[in-house]
Amino acid sequence: LPDPDVCAPLAEDVAVRLPRPTSESNKYRRGVVGVLAGSETFTGAAVLAVGGAVRGGAGMVRFASSEHPVELVRQRWPESVTTVIGDSLDGIGRVQAWVAGPGLGTDERAEALLAQVLATDLPVLVDADGLTVLARRRDLLWRDAPTVLTPHAGELARLLGTDAGEIEARRLEHVRRAAEELTATVLLKGSTTLIAEADRPVRVNPTGTPWLATAGSGDVLSGLTGALLAGGVPAIDAAATGAYLHGLAARLSADPYGDGAAPISAYDVLDALPEAFRTLA
Ligand code: AMP
Ligand code: MG
Repeated sequence: LPDPDVCAPLAEDVAVRLPRPTSESNKYRRGVVGVLAGSETFTGAAVLAVGGAVRGGAGMVRFASSEHPVELVRQRWPESVTTVIGDSLDGIGRVQAWVAGPGLGTDERAEALLAQVLATDLPVLVDADGLTVLARRRDLLWRDAPTVLTPHAGELARLLGTDAGEIEARRLEHVRRAAEELTATVLLKGSTTLIAEADRPVRVNPTGTPWLATAGSGDVLSGLTGALLAGGVPAIDAAATGAYLHGLAARLSADPYGDGAAPISAYDVLDALPEAFRTLA
């Protein structure tokens, strides 16, 4: 029997959730995403996360990081507004949602910056290094605004104090437990992506392809989902819609004619996002 507490969204369900610009729209109303990502050691994740937010339909992306990632993001995404920061987010300007963590590092500075983002009353998506920091600072999750966490099995294991094998063996059970214990919307990545929020059916993402198992693809998903959050989409719908579009873009890019797939890069997923959106238009 199908589990009534699990559901898979249809294309129509996803299509109605997509924020669409109207004649009343301007870039601020469409949603400003703040991206806190990258460090002197890790730069690529930031470029991909900003790209996900740009291609995800943000009205504006504000990128805050150290010098080297800011330089790269300026070159690749000149449409973003970049700021070189130290250990404070003061002066970044207004945003409607934050994406924090890809390539951020896990040192004290990363922790201080993540704490500032989570102290706001805005929706925040935390991924990658941000999740590693949260595993030792779960107190940062005590907040009133929505939090979306996007771990793979290893990252969720660290958050719950278990191992990845245990998560993989009982994914549904653990994603539900995580949503309750961490008081967050939890999107568990892997061969099937599950999205859980307390007292809601778990959503199983119907799109995707194993060709997505490639470095950087998760960073694209965080930026994309952040754009939906900034556009005013509720947390669980933003996570489910982000996963849907991400998986669809990957499929369109790996197997454009439905007659055979080829390897894709995270950048290919970014480039296929407009086509994925159009499919739902
Ligand atoms: P990350 O682990 O952050 O690099 O993200 C990897 C992305 O690839 C996520 O969106 C996963 O859901 C997806 N992914 C990883 N492995 C598979 C797989 N075997 N089949 C389908 N999607 C996968
Ligand atoms: Mg990742």
